[in-house]
Amino acid sequence: MLNIVIFGAPGSGKGTQSDKLIEHYNLFHISTGDVLRDHIRRGTELGKTAKGYIDQGQLVPDELIIDILAQVLDDNKEQATQGVIFDGFPRTIPQAEALEQLLADRGTQIDAVVGLEVPEEELIKRILLRGQMSGRSDDNEETARKRLETYHNQTSPLKAYYEEKGKYRAINGLGSIDGIFDLIKESLDTL
Ligand code: ADP
Repeated sequence: MLNIVIFGAPGSGKGTQSDKLIEHYNLFHISTGDVLRDHIRRGTELGKTAKGYIDQGQLVPDELIIDILAQVLDDNKEQATQGVIFDGFPRTIPQAEALEQLLADRGTQIDAVVGLEVPEEELIKRILLRGQMSGRSDDNEETARKRLETYHNQTSPLKAYYEEKGKYRAINGLGSIDGIFDLIKESLDTL
C-alpha cells in the first residue's frame, strides 16, 4: 500500500499526474479542491464559506479543511486502505502535522511526497489557459497571481518539512505528461 502526497504550485500539473498515478498504482484520490468545489456546486454552508476564500486566492482555514479531510477519510475507509493520493492537501505546516496524526491514528503514514517543480512564468501561462477551458472562477490572472503568492508564503515551506523527513521527491514538471509520469514512477519504484 502506498500513500502519496502530490505537491506543487497551482498549475504544476498535480491533477493531471494524479489521474495517471491513480490508475497505475490503484490509489484512492482525495483532492481537497474538488471536495470544496463540490460543496460550492451544491450550495452548502461550507461551500459558501469556502468560495469567499477561493475566489480571493486565499486558503480555506486549516480547522475547516482538516475536518473535511478527516471526514473524507472516515467516509471512505475501505477504499483508503488500498492507498491514497492526497492532492492539494497539505497546504500548510499545521495541515501536514494534522495529516500525520490522522494517518497515525489509522495505523498508516505518508510514504512519499512527489513535488512537481515548474518555473513561475510557465505556471501563470498554464493557469490562464486552463481558465479559458474550465471556466474555474479562480483561474483568472489576478487570482492566479494571488494563489501563487499564497503558495510561496504558506505552502512552499512544506518542501523543506518533507525533505527533513526524507520523503520529498523532486520531479521536473516541465516536459510531456508521459515523460513527467515516467520520472515519477522511477522515483516511486525505489520505495
Ligand atoms: P490549485 O492547486 O490549482 O490551486 P486546487 O483545486 O487544489 O487548485 O485548490 C483550489 C482552491 O481551493 C485553493 O486555491 C484554496 O483556496 C482551496 N483549497 C484547496 N485545498 C486546500 C487546503 N488543503 N487548504 C486550504 N485551502 C485549500
